Amino acid sequence: MTFKIAVLPGDGIGPEIIDQAVNVIGAVAARFSIALELNSALVGGIAYDATGHPLPDETLELCRNSDAVLLGAVGGPKWDSVQPASLRPEVGALLPLRRELGLFANLRPATLFRALSAVSSLRSDIVGDGLDLLVVRELTGGIYFGQPKGRSADGLTATDTCVYSKSEIERIAVVGFEAALKRGKKLCSVDKANVLETSRFWREVVIEVSSRYPQVELSHMLVDNCAMQLVRNPKQFDVIVTENMFGDILSDEASMLTGSLGMLPSASLGSTPTAGGAGTFGLYEPIHGSAPDIAGKNIANPLATILSCALLFRHSLGAEDAAVVIESAVTSVLNAGYRTADIAGNADVPLGTVEMGNKVLEALLA
Ligand code: NAD
Repeated sequence: MTFKIAVLPGDGIGPEIIDQAVNVIGAVAARFSIALELNSALVGGIAYDATGHPLPDETLELCRNSDAVLLGAVGGPKWDSVQPASLRPEVGALLPLRRELGLFANLRPATLFRALSAVSSLRSDIVGDGLDLLVVRELTGGIYFGQPKGRSADGLTATDTCVYSKSEIERIAVVGFEAALKRGKKLCSVDKANVLETSRFWREVVIEVSSRYPQVELSHMLVDNCAMQLVRNPKQFDVIVTENMFGDILSDEASMLTGSLGMLPSASLGSTPTAGGAGTFGLYEPIHGSAPDIAGKNIANPLATILSCALLFRHSLGAEDAAVVIESAVTSVLNAGYRTADIAGNADVPLGTVEMGNKVLEALLA
């Protein structure tokens, strides 16, 4: 059985960090005898320059015919004023990729490695010896997609509509419960049920789904309280499940607790099984953008992308052992004191992108 992986480096630091991630994928696949076929394609500004569209048909087709997609990042100042705006990389590539590939569940683990406690934005007595929480965000429904939306004819009113169907809530709740089952067995569902009808419905459906998961302790929290609790006492959370807009905001907040954007991976999952039923089709990417300010300088941190490969092995290829090996390699490199500039603090001499990638490879092969 050969798994197909679409590799989309994109813009800015995308190609640099993807190079390191591809090396790691190759080493881990060889170690575990996993047969892979990697195919690269254009996406983002570079695709717009070459073809006139940030998501060319061939790229979308390649993704559709793959078991997983590994994405670098898209966008940059060069394409910020492209007209029409629908052809800008973020709008014309990222959102259609999610929609067209049916990627409804966004998993963002926020892990503060013990070795990096000093670079968290929270005090050491709050983060202690590290943090490990997971935000599960609904990605294709809610106020970002609901209709009607737009401006009134007189230009004096604007409307967005928040809509959730029972099936949309059910399927993301299942992802949340399943994730909690494999972790600390605690799920916190975040909503605004004191004000919003969609949130009251969300809560009802999550409670209904919870009857299938008696092993998981379910709690509910209002989103404003959750935003506060994340900085007051983040260790109380195991898995958070929430709707699209709340998840967008809370997952960015959670990510900053861990020190650097350059450390955080993400997975966006659909419901299509991958080859041989090994896992679920998904798109994997670091949570950061294309970082045009540091592109081409060999200083970007490749670890978020490398950790995204661990999620790819876990969720799409069903290879938990390979995922754990990648995560352990990153942990041991950090424990050994190796740092890129974004996580270096003042005391250390930072490694470049390539050198950090090589350290992870060495740890993998050790
Ligand atoms: P950004 O995440 O690209 O960068 C924010 C800051 O973090 C910058 O100072 C950058 O140098 C630093 N940074 C980011 N990744 C890093 C890494 N791996 N190592 C070290 N430092 C890192 O966000 P931005 O500057 O707001 O956006 C730049 C471009 O990326 C924009 O065009 C934006 O639209 C796009 N963007 C794309 C995605 C995506 O492709 N998923 C996500 C966010 C932003």
